[in-house]
Amino acid sequence: MDLTLLRLNTVIETKKPHPCGGKLWRIVRTGADYKIACLTCGRVVMLTPDELKKRIRRIAEAGQ
Ligand SMILES: [Zn+2]
Repeated sequence: MDLTLLRLNTVIETKKPHPCGGKLWRIVRTGADYKIACLTCGRVVMLTPDELKKRIRRIAEAGQ
C-alpha cells in the first residue's frame, strides 16, 4: 500500500472489522500519525503509518 494514496478523506476498508461491526473508515488526519474515523460508530483511532498500512484491505473511495 502506497502511503501517497492515503490522503485526507480517503475511505478505507480494514481487514478486521471494528468491534461495532464496521469495516469502513475515513482518514481524518495524515502526517507522522494518521487518524481514522469509523464510518459506522464514529470512533477515531490514531495509528502510525506502518500500522495503518497493515490494516488496510482496500481503498473504498479515493480522497482529495
Ligand atoms: Zn466502529
